[in-house]
Amino acid sequence: MEDSIIGAQTYLSFIEAFSNKHPSEIDYNQFKSLYKTLNIAEIRWQESQRGIVVQDIAVYETPHKKAIQPFVRNYICNDVLQRQITIYRIADTEPWSKDMMQQIRCFCEINYMCSSNYILRSHAATTENIDRDTGIATMPVLRRHMAMLCSQGLTDQFAAMYINLKNCKLINKNYGYAAGTKLMRAFALTLQDMTDQQNNEIVIRLGGDNYIALIRKENLASFLEQITEVRVSVDFQGRTVHNTFSARAGVWPIEDKHSPFDIIMNNIGRAISLTRIPPFHDIVYFDAAIERTVLRRNELEVQMESALASGEFLVFYQPKVSAVNNCLVGAEALVRWKHGDEMISPAEFIPLSEQNGFVSKIDYFVLDQVCAQLRKWMDAEMDPVPVSVNFSRVHFEEEDVAERIFEVVNRHNIPPRYIEIEFTETVSYNEKEKLLSVIEQLKAKGLAVSMDDFGAGYSSLSLLQDLNFDVIKIDRSLCDVSNNRQSVVLEHVIRLARALNMCVVCEGVESEQTYGFIKQAGCDMIQGFLFDRPIPLDQFEQRLRNKQYELK
Ligand code: C2E
Ligand code: MG
Ligand code: MG
Repeated sequence: MEDSIIGAQTYLSFIEAFSNKHPSEIDYNQFKSLYKTLNIAEIRWQESQRGIVVQDIAVYETPHKKAIQPFVRNYICNDVLQRQITIYRIADTEPWSKDMMQQIRCFCEINYMCSSNYILRSHAATTENIDRDTGIATMPVLRRHMAMLCSQGLTDQFAAMYINLKNCKLINKNYGYAAGTKLMRAFALTLQDMTDQQNNEIVIRLGGDNYIALIRKENLASFLEQITEVRVSVDFQGRTVHNTFSARAGVWPIEDKHSPFDIIMNNIGRAISLTRIPPFHDIVYFDAAIERTVLRRNELEVQMESALASGEFLVFYQPKVSAVNNCLVGAEALVRWKHGDEMISPAEFIPLSEQNGFVSKIDYFVLDQVCAQLRKWMDAEMDPVPVSVNFSRVHFEEEDVAERIFEVVNRHNIPPRYIEIEFTETVSYNEKEKLLSVIEQLKAKGLAVSMDDFGAGYSSLSLLQDLNFDVIKIDRSLCDVSNNRQSVVLEHVIRLARALNMCVVCEGVESEQTYGFIKQAGCDMIQGFLFDRPIPLDQFEQRLRNKQYELK
């Protein structure tokens, strides 16, 4: 019995041969005589990462035919790596005896244990190089890959892109975290399958819903088309869960053979940041114009806070005129940034401030200015008109937005009917719930609430039905009566809103033709260049003194 188990000498030589090595580096042939006594035909070593076989090699082979049922040992090294040792007996030899099996098992255990040091090292390497959730490569891999391409002067054959998934938060919300992770993994692997790895294309996960890909220029168009809609399905707790991922991308077809990594990352990072601001293109290519835009954005972003403190933000007023008698009946407060000699449009800095949250300060500032002004007009017995103030959807994150608004109105002792709060159309269900509650609170305190830019988004009709706005402001894009079909839509939207007891304001009215049409359709108020542009305080005060407009 003693003799048949591997002797101490053989143990030692195993340990020496296997220690600190990857199986592919070990010379297995040195134990040939042992394999012969054990009738071994072949020894295979397999390595898998997350169940995907990444290496499968015969570390010892003979020309003999293999018996059908091999001896298999599985080792789970960590939650990414698995190893498997498979030993085949020579066909037509006696099945292994108990002793022989013990020797074989002993061989496997020592082999695995001795390379555990190696495994520990490779574990560190896999966690660094392989994303835990998805199993695809990570940033260090990309960095090395690009350095290799750069050193070979090949980078200009590729386009780099920063990929970001749209509505990713909703996935966990809709399917739960575990299924969400599975879906994300399926998406990442699909993305990886779209790349031509043989030809040096690569995709890595940066973290969260962000990926970076390096795609050959000739494959760029088809790759970009594919990522606009990626359908995946996974099995989760006995049912199949489907999701369609849709991505936005910042792309740079690399211009220079030796473009360094940091420049590439910078350029695609700038391009992706522009997908989130108007005009909201899903694919943005980096170029010199983009660079200027990004620099400008950064410059504005840095200066915003001090500009507000030093009084560079001004409030302009755009009159609202009654469609019945052409009389001034209200105004919208619109913010302006006077930066040196330049007047920066809110269309430029509001989307930026919405991204960094600063818009909240701007909106409360405007509300405060408007209330202070209304107080002065009232004290001077100037008979002011109600003024509307824009509130960004960013405020829905605040718990107490309605109270804060009311606190400002109260502080200046303004009757609530003089203040109207404008909210833009919102899409997500979550926002809708919050908007519903804010509207109810504001209305309960006597303030009017309006839906701004109606018709510019997609969610219009259900919002009209569910939310109890006092005023609907029809977007400029709908108020174009030169197109026959559109004028039919406009007319019926006006009628619908009136039937729901809402006051209708048409924005962006520039011509008498439009004015005539919407007046006859039943619109209550006009806000547009036909009567007035947004004007500074002193000019608006003249309008307050003489409220009647004469059309030229
Ligand atoms: P909005 O709230 O829909 O404001 C109306 C915009 O339409 C104003 O642009 C106004 O100048 C423009 N407009 C009005 N009549 C006409 C017209 O007849 N023709 C044309 N072409 N345009 C017309 P403005 O002042 O550049 O503001 C742009 C947007 O910036 C606003 O759209 C609003 O969404 C946002 N905004 C402005 N001030 C604030 C603010 O204090 N807070 C927030 N959150 N957003 C603001
Ligand atoms: Mg508005
Ligand atoms: Mg509007």
